[in-house]
Parts: sequence; structure tokens; C-alpha cells
Amino acid sequence: MAKILEGLLNLQTIERQLTLVKAKLKTRQNAVAFQQRRIEQAQADHLALQDKATQRRKDADGLELDLKTKEEQVARYRIALNTAKTNKEYSAILTQINTIKADNARIEEEVLRIRVEIDSVGAEAQKAAQQVLHEQERLKEVQATNTAELDKLNAMHSELAAKRQEAAKDVARDILATFDRLSEQYEGEAMAAIEIHGKRPPFEYVCGGCYMGLNAEHANALSSPELDQVRTCDNCGRILYLPPKAAKK
Ligand SMILES: [Zn+2]
Repeated sequence: MAKILEGLLNLQTIERQLTLVKAKLKTRQNAVAFQQRRIEQAQADHLALQDKATQRRKDADGLELDLKTKEEQVARYRIALNTAKTNKEYSAILTQINTIKADNARIEEEVLRIRVEIDSVGAEAQKAAQQVLHEQERLKEVQATNTAELDKLNAMHSELAAKRQEAAKDVARDILATFDRLSEQYEGEAMAAIEIHGKRPPFEYVCGGCYMGLNAEHANALSSPELDQVRTCDNCGRILYLPPKAAKK
């Protein structure tokens, strides 16, 4: 293979590893922020349940107060019942009493229902509080493992960066600029192998980066090492090369 491409492929190999290490570093750095968000979410859930329990307690207390007032009303009506002068008056008061009592039965039922609900919301709130503690513990673990892992990845990163710098020395400045730009654009994949399809001529040539058809001229030129030139895909712009096996043909 031509010298320029050989240098670029070497650079590409290092660049690919470097991109991987950078991605891992980013994931690790995100892990702490992610866990912090989980804690915040758990705290918000816990608070919401506590608020709900407080609100329902207020509802129940209000209803019980209402119930007390109504029971006092019933007591007053019972006294009135004893002093009723006519049958008509008596039965009117009795109807009032029965109406209020029916109401009270409904309110009592409602209070009971709310108290049960408060118990279950309370249990949920307790679980949510546990979840907050769990997420906080998890953050400590993430931070502990992260420190070790980040150290390791940072060391790998500097090692690869040094290797890349060394490999870049063999590449002409303008070609390196093209490579860097493409590498940035395609997440570390600045180069694309030419794929050759078909068993006999005329072969079909495809860019291994974008899978668009390529002019045969690219493959022909690249199979002559003495030309030693850089050719890029007409569609995606990646630097083209012939994989060693294809180049032998
Ligand atoms: Zn392409």
C-alpha cells in the first residue's frame, strides 16, 4: 500500500481507540450527574407522597368536624322531639333527624375510607424515603468506582493522545487537517474502505463509509502504490483506501 495511506490507516487505528476512550470517559462523567438526578427524583416523589398524606389528613379532620357539628344538631333535635306539640311537628323533626343520620353514616364511611388511604400513602412515603437512601448509597458507589475508572481512562487517553501525535508526524499537514476534520465529522472514522462487488469485471465499487457507488477510477488509482495519493469519496468525503486483500487483485 502507498505510504501516505499506510500512515493514515495507522492514525485511523489510534483515532478509533481514542474515540472509544473519549466516549467511555463521557459516560463515566455522566454517571454521577445521572445518579444525582435519580436522587432528586426520589426526593421529589417522597415529598409528593408526604404532601398527599397531609392533605388527606386535613380532609379527614374537616369531615370529622362536620360530623361532630351534625351530631350536635341531632342531639338538639332529640330535645325538640320531646317538646313537640303535635304529631305533625313530631314526625317533621324525626324526618330531620333521620336525614342527618343518613348523612352522617355516609360521612363516617368517607372518613374511614380516607384513613385507610392515608395508611397506604404513609407506607408508600416510607418506601420512597428508603428509595432516597438507596439512591444516595448508590451515588457513593458510583463515585467510588468512577474515580478508579476515570483514572484508568484518563491514563489511556493520554497514552493514546501521545501515540496519535507520534503517528501524525508521518502525515503531511494539509492531509492531516482533512483527516482531523473528517474524524470530527464521523466520530473517529475518517477513512472508508472501498468495497468491491461482483465476481468478474466490470466490478462495482462502493464506499464502505456511506455505501454509495464509487467511480472505478478511485479503485484503479489506489491499486497503484506508486501514485501515493489521497482520494476521497465523492459523496461523504471520507478518505478512501483499498483493503489489503482487494489491493492485491
Ligand atoms: Zn462515502
